[in-house]
Amino acid sequence: MLAHGEKELPFEACGLLSGSGEMIKTIWKAVNNKRKMNSFEINEEQVTLLLTKIEEKNECLVGIYHSHPTAPPVPSREDICFAYPDQVYFIISYAKRKPIVKCYRMKQGKVFPVKIIFYD
Ligand SMILES: [Zn+2]
Repeated sequence: MLAHGEKELPFEACGLLSGSGEMIKTIWKAVNNKRKMNSFEINEEQVTLLLTKIEEKNECLVGIYHSHPTAPPVPSREDICFAYPDQVYFIISYAKRKPIVKCYRMKQGKVFPVKIIFYD
């Protein structure tokens, strides 16, 4: 996920995360249709295709990730506006030398931080 975000710089990278329960097992890179430095969009065909692949692996959608090439790892106004209330969003920031990953749920314009636990 970090490598994908770095590769797409200076544009935003995005993708889906799947696994079981709240545990992420697979990262699915997506193409940012907007190819912009401050927003992202995954088209519907891509989402449908990835969700089919996730299902074939017997996994569930756990989260959605995207990068912030120059902004801090906090949801932008657009992120908050377009967020699905039941999804978990990961944001990777490259604003500092070392990338930072943060995780949030966004509901009705409100942002709730989600703790990430790393396993080897
Ligand atoms: Zn964003």
